[in-house]
Amino acid sequence: MTGLQELLREDLRGSTPYGAPQLEVPVRLNTNESSYPVPPEVVAEITSAVAAVAPDLNRYPDREFTALRTELAAYLTRTTGTAVDPAQVWAGNGSNEVLQHVVLAFGGPGRTALGFTPAYSMHPIISRSVGTTWVDGLRGQGSTQAFDLTAESAVEQVRAHDPHLVFLCSPNNPTGTALGLDVVERVYDAAERAVVVVDEAYAEFARPGTPSALGLLEGRPRLVVTRTMSKAFAFAGGRLGYLAADPAFVDALRLVRLPYHLSSPTQAVALAALHHADTMLATVEAIKHERDRMVDGLAALGLEPVPSDANFVLFGGLADARATWQALLDRGVLVRDVGIPHYLRVTAGTPAETDAFLAAMAQVAGQDGFGTDDGSTR
Ligand code: PMP
Repeated sequence: MTGLQELLREDLRGSTPYGAPQLEVPVRLNTNESSYPVPPEVVAEITSAVAAVAPDLNRYPDREFTALRTELAAYLTRTTGTAVDPAQVWAGNGSNEVLQHVVLAFGGPGRTALGFTPAYSMHPIISRSVGTTWVDGLRGQGSTQAFDLTAESAVEQVRAHDPHLVFLCSPNNPTGTALGLDVVERVYDAAERAVVVVDEAYAEFARPGTPSALGLLEGRPRLVVTRTMSKAFAFAGGRLGYLAADPAFVDALRLVRLPYHLSSPTQAVALAALHHADTMLATVEAIKHERDRMVDGLAALGLEPVPSDANFVLFGGLADARATWQALLDRGVLVRDVGIPHYLRVTAGTPAETDAFLAAMAQVAGQDGFGTDDGSTR
């Protein structure tokens, strides 16, 4: 009898699925969710929005999610100062799904996608899952900062690989720092035959003066900016991600989406949350404050936090990152081992969570220390 391994596509054999641990611990700071629950007034509107669509669940939802696209375009226009038309907007069940739509339409067998590692781990997983060849580009070239991506280095790598898709992530997960728009512009010009994706999942947390790539969309039909309601919007469980691009680009995505991919409850719930955008986003400033407190606290412990424009902090200087991860978990604090030797990533949440994280770190430092980082990962 043929085993499943032999039936599985050759290129998937031996791969590991995406899987951040979902553990029941007091302090969960490992998946960059918001630690703040949905406020009661929004819960009330969400509940009545679901009740309102329930009788019509015998019918398929609006395949074009017109009302939702209109509200998402208005949200982007209002918060970024770049006028975005509903025809430029596309959405899916999380930005992972909109990224998958982009790769389905523009990647695939015989095509290449380039990203700059370390970056969001789903970019290669989604690319490979539809048969796209993934190229791991490098960060830290031509810079004293290990995780910087300079325009020169990005352009050089684009020229060397001539990809069909380029992934830029700004602010970058897991390193936290946003890209200058010069990198996006120069990559776009160099990648003459490529779709250029700027993943802005964490844009709302960026430090002042960090512009969005949305302002570059005009006149760049191959550029796409992806966003999500999972992070700043505190809506990870609602599963709503979206993108903005040229209307013709959005049309291409209609070729690969499954019909009615956004259920009517998903559309209704997301619309209700968007009606309360200010309330849903009210914790962003507080989270940025906690992020900065983590950066200061980690530096005070002699560690090396990377400058962050996101709701998380990557920090280095750990002799054995896995041992520190476990020591924190033993103290009820779950952070993320992103697989970069000597580094861990921690999500910024409530003041109490920052206190618990920094107290646990101080305990670990006092007990075993973090060892010395010999800098060999640089
Ligand atoms: N992009 C980046 C950079 C992310 O970190 C994440 C989630 N961790 C996503 C996209 C996907 O998020 P979602 O599917 O919840 O929108």
